[in-house]
Amino acid sequence: MRPAILFPLFAETRTLSGVGPKVEKLIARAAGTRLIDLVFDLPVGLIDRSYRPKLKDAQEGRIATIEVTVQSHLPSRDPRRPYKVRCADDTAFLELVFFRAKGDYLTRALPVGAKRIVSGRVERYAGGLQMVHPDYVELPEDHAEMPAHEPVYALTDGLSNKMIGKAVRGALEAVPDAPEWLDKHLLRARGWPSFHDAIMAAHAPENETDLSPQSPARMRLAYDELLANQLALVLIRAHMRGQTGRVLKSAGKLKAKALAALPFALTRSQQQAIGEIEADMASPSRMLRLLQGDVGSGKTVVAMAALLNAVECGAQGALMAPTEILARQHMMALEPLAKAAGVRLAILTGREKGQPREQTLKALENGVIDILVGTHALFSEDVAFRDLALAVVDEQHRFGVHHRMKLQGKGDRPVDVLVMTATPIPRTLALTAYGDMEVSRLTERPAGRKPVDTRVLSAKRTDEVVQHLRRAIAKGARAYWVCPLVEESEKSDLAAAENRAAMLRQALGIPVGLVHGRMKGPERDDAMAKFKSGETKVLVATTVIEVGVDVPEATIMVVEHAERFGLAQLHQLRGRVGRSSAKSTCLLIYQPPLGDTAKARLKTLRETDDGFVIAEEDLRLRGPGEVLGVRQSGMEEFHLADLSAHADLLAAARDDAKLIVSTDSELKSARGEALRVLLYLFERDEAVRLLRAG
Ligand code: ADP
Ligand code: MG
Repeated sequence: MRPAILFPLFAETRTLSGVGPKVEKLIARAAGTRLIDLVFDLPVGLIDRSYRPKLKDAQEGRIATIEVTVQSHLPSRDPRRPYKVRCADDTAFLELVFFRAKGDYLTRALPVGAKRIVSGRVERYAGGLQMVHPDYVELPEDHAEMPAHEPVYALTDGLSNKMIGKAVRGALEAVPDAPEWLDKHLLRARGWPSFHDAIMAAHAPENETDLSPQSPARMRLAYDELLANQLALVLIRAHMRGQTGRVLKSAGKLKAKALAALPFALTRSQQQAIGEIEADMASPSRMLRLLQGDVGSGKTVVAMAALLNAVECGAQGALMAPTEILARQHMMALEPLAKAAGVRLAILTGREKGQPREQTLKALENGVIDILVGTHALFSEDVAFRDLALAVVDEQHRFGVHHRMKLQGKGDRPVDVLVMTATPIPRTLALTAYGDMEVSRLTERPAGRKPVDTRVLSAKRTDEVVQHLRRAIAKGARAYWVCPLVEESEKSDLAAAENRAAMLRQALGIPVGLVHGRMKGPERDDAMAKFKSGETKVLVATTVIEVGVDVPEATIMVVEHAERFGLAQLHQLRGRVGRSSAKSTCLLIYQPPLGDTAKARLKTLRETDDGFVIAEEDLRLRGPGEVLGVRQSGMEEFHLADLSAHADLLAAARDDAKLIVSTDSELKSARGEALRVLLYLFERDEAVRLLRAG
């Protein structure tokens, strides 16, 4: 259970004074619903209100804090004209200007003859000084509300910095003086403040240096968050490994039969990965392994070898894909291998319903099915295996740690888990998201692949692209033509793709296929199948073909509005071609003018096709949240750490976490107790639950 010392931080923001239902909603959108969300919402800038000139010296355009005496009110009858309040100090006049003001409020706040401290931007207008909507109007004796250095927070519409600033100040009172969880030597060596002081300092920047990710306060907080993340992963991993798994060791007969049916030999990387997986499966501790390999590197065969190993041991295996299309494609790819090996394969997705679904479930429970391929539907309550021993999860970046743990619960005994990801993940990110796993990497391309010739063209040259397509198709080529999401709306997205398909049909005089996200499953399969068989030579698609689709005969990839895609996405799309020994081309069409980031992205793509290089560059250009698709997957997102700035801290936190678990695996020492608080603070409750009680 969460330690009492943290209770106040997890209270709702509505318990703060000054936060009513309306402000609560606004704050929820900007930061969150609990005090801790405000505490972890660090300032993005600061306003310096320490400039306190006399009016005659006040510099135009600068934020100034000035003591004035109110002289007169100049209300306006015309609602389009502002209400003005004339003030002065002993050197000059200042007009305060209010649009859509309530006169009675202003007469109360600024009574004639009274002294007030006002703060805001000073401007010159019609020869005089003015301040439009001062940020602060305070009595001289109580301007505690007005900090000399005001932190600036990220805002949402309707929320003023003053409102959120006040709420944050309230929330900060809930920050406890927690027991120190960091190593004393580390603290001293780095010169970092305590957690409490670091939070306070981070919310009270006095200059740009204080706002930098390298400031001691922000470094400390980033380290805390990264340590919580790494400690949780190391604990989960220790727990998994500690569970006795089962020994799955076969003579490899089924694998041999399946591989004999392949028209190619495995690459060295593939052999090595299979070796590592088999060793994990054969060991009594449970497997938790990540298979990283660029698009087209041949992960499916590796997965099949692992699944066949489980089947040969008398158990069952499951292969889970993120989409229906991919599940069906895996099914198609695995079927010939399963046939050669003599094992029974079945599919289960949201599309299987009624009688057939019942039959599959029964066969699964009876052990008539050896390998089940599917989507999230594999998670359904009513899916029961006779004896699941291995779960393979494809395209992992769409799933989170939670999904991983859920699937593992499907077996009676601990299930071995192999996660495959086609997105080459930068090392730093791999560590935060998959730190609980061992990693195998497929670094080679299957033999005979040629690099894809990548060209970047302006949309003004679309006609040339169509001409090129016509010539290539006459020679037997097959091409994808990708239209991106337009204006965030599926409808117009679809319209664009439909128009493009119609235009190509006309220009090329041949049938053109179309797949998009709104299509019903069977329709989409049909379009894919026609393209795969060559019945249609051109397939117009929205990004549904993004991951995993495999049509080796396709050698041309056209991407429209390439500037709207992320780097990793473009790399994935390009990976759809270059899958055979024929020469492939990727034509990236952009709509000018091209922004700097888009330019950098397209340049990177033209220059390299190394997925790992591209992934690092993507991380640099877009930040970690985007790269991992965190927002969609509900996966790791950091509040205090910024991986592009704190990568070195991550490595240190990793080592720290390992050392902690190796010396105090149950977190029972004094520091261990403090570290439990850290885990709760960053909501790694599930990791704490794995520790034995007490
Ligand atoms: P991904 O890693 O993207 O999932 P796939 O497993 O779909 O890649 O493999 C891509 C294509 O490469 C498939 O057509 C597959 O049959 C083929 N392939 C896999 N391994 C090899 C190999 N060693 N040599 C030649 N082709 C291979
Ligand atoms: Mg794949």
